[in-house]
Amino acid sequence: MASSADDSSKDIIKGVICASFDETSVATARAWLPSDLSRALLEKIPELVYKTWSSNPDLQKRLAVLPIPGMTMRALAWFIAPKNQEQDGGAVQGALILLFDETNDAIFYRYIKQFEDLFGKHAAAISTLLETAADETALLEEVSAFSGELGWILDLLKTQELSPDAFPEDVELESQMPMKCKVVVLGDPAVGKTSIVVQFTEKAFKKSYLPTIGFNISEKSISHDGIPVKFMIWDVAGIAKFQQMRKNFYAGAMAVIFVFDLTSKVSLADIKGWYEDVQASIGNTFTGALLGNKCDLVDQVVISPEEASAVASELNLPYFQTSALTGENVDAVFHHFAQDFISQS
Ligand code: GDP
Ligand code: MG
Repeated sequence: MASSADDSSKDIIKGVICASFDETSVATARAWLPSDLSRALLEKIPELVYKTWSSNPDLQKRLAVLPIPGMTMRALAWFIAPKNQEQDGGAVQGALILLFDETNDAIFYRYIKQFEDLFGKHAAAISTLLETAADETALLEEVSAFSGELGWILDLLKTQELSPDAFPEDVELESQMPMKCKVVVLGDPAVGKTSIVVQFTEKAFKKSYLPTIGFNISEKSISHDGIPVKFMIWDVAGIAKFQQMRKNFYAGAMAVIFVFDLTSKVSLADIKGWYEDVQASIGNTFTGALLGNKCDLVDQVVISPEEASAVASELNLPYFQTSALTGENVDAVFHHFAQDFISQS
């Protein structure tokens, strides 16, 4: 299988499943990624994990590596215990499960501490969601956040494994990725957020999209003045309902793209609300850009450059007119961010 530094984490991770267990010992997959994970795996894995736990209840709160019979994959499972334990006699309510290619298991053993922290953090959030009977969208958002962070950590560890230096005992994850940039894309539904991301990452425009559920994370590297910059782009659904979930999306964002639709007055009026939502969460720690999208629909444009620029200058953002259809100015936005990071570093 082809493997490059760029997609290494995707080669390792085969899937993530959030499963819940009920009193009658039925294990159910509740949320997962990728969305096309096979039915067979979605039925088999939660059951296998539940059986492993019921024969080794002391595995609770520790990561367990499970072989999957008949497959070249392994599962790394974290059992989720209810907060109110006495009542349930130490039962588990579910599990956060990572499926990975078995040829890569060394990395998980070597850096088990880092993975424990990551699983523990997201398992705690999932536990709360399970207890409050939150819907599948909320679970999927948490699974996506977990998967995004995991990919990030794996990429970083992989880079270090390949470097000639000795393996560090404790990896300072945050400080060692100067040219890796988390970008969050925001704006009202249907303004073209997903289209812009797809245009940038795949140089393609697709006529119809499913409305984004939860959020998608995609990655793309560019070279700016000969310096490689890797973007990790979080495409947030316009309808993200949960305040706590939105905080997860925004956490660590270095850049935020605010998109409105040049053919919709409302979408521009709503930009301020999006801006304030981010600001309430992460303050002024990000660099941003305002995009007036669908500039190719010349006959339908109802927003003048002056109106857009007024909003942009009020929020102190550079303004770009873009088209996800023709690709106009889409790359320019990311090169603008790259320039910003390079000059800051
Ligand atoms: P999102 O909800 O903000 O992610 O919006 P989508 O990317 O799903 O786009 C919503 C609709 O607008 C889709 O039908 C797209 O094909 C269309 N669209 C998005 N960007 C453009 C653009 O730049 N030009 C035109 N003509 N249509 C666009
Ligand atoms: Mg979308």
